[in-house]
Amino acid sequence: MTTRSETQSTLDHLLTEIEHRNPAQPEFHQAAHEVLETLAPVVAARPEYAEPGLIERLVEPERQVMFRVPWQDDQGRVRVNRGFRVEFNSALGPYKGGLRFHPSVNLGVIKFLGFEQIFKNALTGLGIGGGKGGSDFDPHGRSDAEVMRFCQSFMTELYRHIGEHTDVPAGDIGVGGREIGYLFGQYRRITNRWESGVLTGKGQGWGGSLIRPEATGYGNVLFAAAMMRERGEDLEGQTAVVSGSGNVAIYTIEKLTALGANAVTCSDSSGYVVDEKGIDLDLLKQIKEVERGRVDAYAERRGASARFVPGGRVWEVPADLALPSATQNELDENDAATLIRNGVKAVSEGANMPTTPEAVHLLQQAGVAFGPGKAANAGGVAVSALEMAQNHARTSWTAARVEEELADIMTSIHTTCHETAERYDAPGDYVTGANIAGFERVADAMLAQGVI
Ligand code: GLU
Repeated sequence: MTTRSETQSTLDHLLTEIEHRNPAQPEFHQAAHEVLETLAPVVAARPEYAEPGLIERLVEPERQVMFRVPWQDDQGRVRVNRGFRVEFNSALGPYKGGLRFHPSVNLGVIKFLGFEQIFKNALTGLGIGGGKGGSDFDPHGRSDAEVMRFCQSFMTELYRHIGEHTDVPAGDIGVGGREIGYLFGQYRRITNRWESGVLTGKGQGWGGSLIRPEATGYGNVLFAAAMMRERGEDLEGQTAVVSGSGNVAIYTIEKLTALGANAVTCSDSSGYVVDEKGIDLDLLKQIKEVERGRVDAYAERRGASARFVPGGRVWEVPADLALPSATQNELDENDAATLIRNGVKAVSEGANMPTTPEAVHLLQQAGVAFGPGKAANAGGVAVSALEMAQNHARTSWTAARVEEELADIMTSIHTTCHETAERYDAPGDYVTGANIAGFERVADAMLAQGVI
């Protein structure tokens, strides 16, 4: 039997090879490190996982598509963006994961997101593989007509790679209901098929699921509540800092407020707002979802309780809970030290990989409950899978039913991560628990299906 340290050195060797074979993809390296650094106990304990080639296959996407996306702006000028779809792993079901439209998107970013998605989707217990896509297109400041032409051009290539049984994209940063509508319309036109299960996050009148927009934020708060319960506490009366002001942040604030916590911040790339009375969601939704504006407008219109801090980071505001809901690597070591100094009890990731590895380490050392995104923010993709189920059955469920299923899924993910961490001598370590539990499910399916 191989020891954990022998196994760890094999995994370290593989990590060096991953860096070598995938140059200039630091986010993908980071995501691979984060997973492979926690797998030694399970690989050492279960010899079938040490089978040559298993983990090597897991870190190599099944397929990667990159394509040109030409479109015309409102002045008639031709613009050229780059489109991506990384179909990472389909052992558990069709590739599933969002599309991100943001100028920071490149192949390495999409690979990190796709890799995380494999484990996240496995943890939901549902039949979905892992994938991710997007473009370096920036929808900010673009007219609806420009966004529509971009989406149509993007889908004119993407349509040949996706399908309800093949690959099912959804939203992510920069891709919400408006973009999914334009993408679906073009898919339908090109294929001449009403194939509702090809995309999730659709509008409610045409195949979308109730509670899908809320699901990632709601799910993250339910996960944070479950972590707090383990410590004998609930969310009532706790102060929470939330970063971001998109879909995830908005519905995180909504659920926190519903459960009696006081969510006092939100942010965007220009800075953050702190509102000691708690964020007024109607105002925030009006500014972000209707006007597509910036958070400084919130402070301007809210009155005395709120102020805008240009360029600042929400982590400097004292809080019991921190829910990073913006983007990768937005909470670093210094931020973690500040949160700890201010007595934070739990950090739960609504965004994908928002906490740097050094910050995660610091928080865990300080005894802060830390919920990694692949467990804590799995509610979004879980409800996407429920949307697919409703589409296949040509039916739609009530909001209450979807919410109940979401709550059950989040509780079960929490329990799985918690129990798995204990089983592998890492009590309270949700990172290890999530990685190992997600890995076991995917690895078992891959082993059963042979070398493909
Ligand atoms: N983009 C979301 C995520 O990071 C949701 C993906 C989906 O619904 O397919 O999990």
